[in-house]
Amino acid sequence: MRCSRCRRLAVINLRAHRLALCERHFVQRFLEVVERAIRRYSLMHRSSKVLVAVSGGKDSLALWDALTELGYSADGLYIDLGIEKQDYSRISREKAEAFAEQRGLRLRVFSLKEEYGSAMPELRRGSRELCSVCGIVKRHVMNRVALEGGYEVLATGHNLDDEASVLLANLLRWNTALAARQAPRVEAWHEKLRPKVKPLCLLSERETATYAFVRGIDYVSELECPFSAGATSIAVKEALNRIEEHSPGTKLYFYTQFLKHREIFAGEEEEKAPVRECSSCGFPAGGELCSFCRLLLKSRLGGEKGDNRADSRVG
Ligand code: AMP
Ligand code: ZN
Ligand code: ZN
Repeated sequence: MRCSRCRRLAVINLRAHRLALCERHFVQRFLEVVERAIRRYSLMHRSSKVLVAVSGGKDSLALWDALTELGYSADGLYIDLGIEKQDYSRISREKAEAFAEQRGLRLRVFSLKEEYGSAMPELRRGSRELCSVCGIVKRHVMNRVALEGGYEVLATGHNLDDEASVLLANLLRWNTALAARQAPRVEAWHEKLRPKVKPLCLLSERETATYAFVRGIDYVSELECPFSAGATSIAVKEALNRIEEHSPGTKLYFYTQFLKHREIFAGEEEEKAPVRECSSCGFPAGGELCSFCRLLLKSRLGGEKGDNRADSRVG
């Protein structure tokens, strides 16, 4: 297969666009699409100080690489959740650190264990499902580091497959409140929060993987969290991929047309409860404590009981 632009050997065939591209032209197009998303959805300004949340996986490292190539000033944030199973947190942290070091970029590492004395597995001691705990923790840490570091926007590596599958899952359940909130840029609704943007939302997972490969980015390839059941979202992604296989372009069309027509969901958003400030950390909260501080408190209470049990076994 030959590149549609220069006839050199192609590295990827984008059936949705009837385009085969060589390394050079693929990278060029990838960067153009990132820039297009940034402009079309007003994600940020050229001068914005950006904090990119990097997990050590292909999407977020590809995003950090692309933003830097495009001339944005972007620091990285790796949140070390302290997951020891399969050495998950250590390995992904090393990938993020190696990437930053090779490119002379600034990576902030935030370790839950160091900052709060508790890591993910202990935080789960409350009743909630682990993935939702993880979401609460990541959101809190991202907002905190962005605020304290003086960043204007927070960028995540969510790609087209992530966005289209979340949209489909929401629509399958007619969860219009969630659909109404889904966007490439989610505005901050409190002075301590920062807008969240997804500059890879027009690029498929296959494209981000190819970009990471071509750019020589070393990433954690099996970056499914060892705790994530993920069954539903994986099934929806697979279903979308089968439709895409049959009708190339469906995924992109489904998502971009939703964004064009999203006003049909306007007014469906759930009313935000009157905002209070968490009495412990000062971030917006629904009650006395924010959901993150409630998790910390529960894990400490649970932790004391847990330690007693451990002591009695040792003794
Ligand atoms: P996920 O929810 O694992 O699909 O990740 C979605 C996005 O959240 C990634 O593309 C990253 O931008 C960000 N992210 C996930 N895990 C971490 C982490 N441990 N530290 C920093 N950012 C993360
Ligand atoms: Zn070419
Ligand atoms: Zn709090």
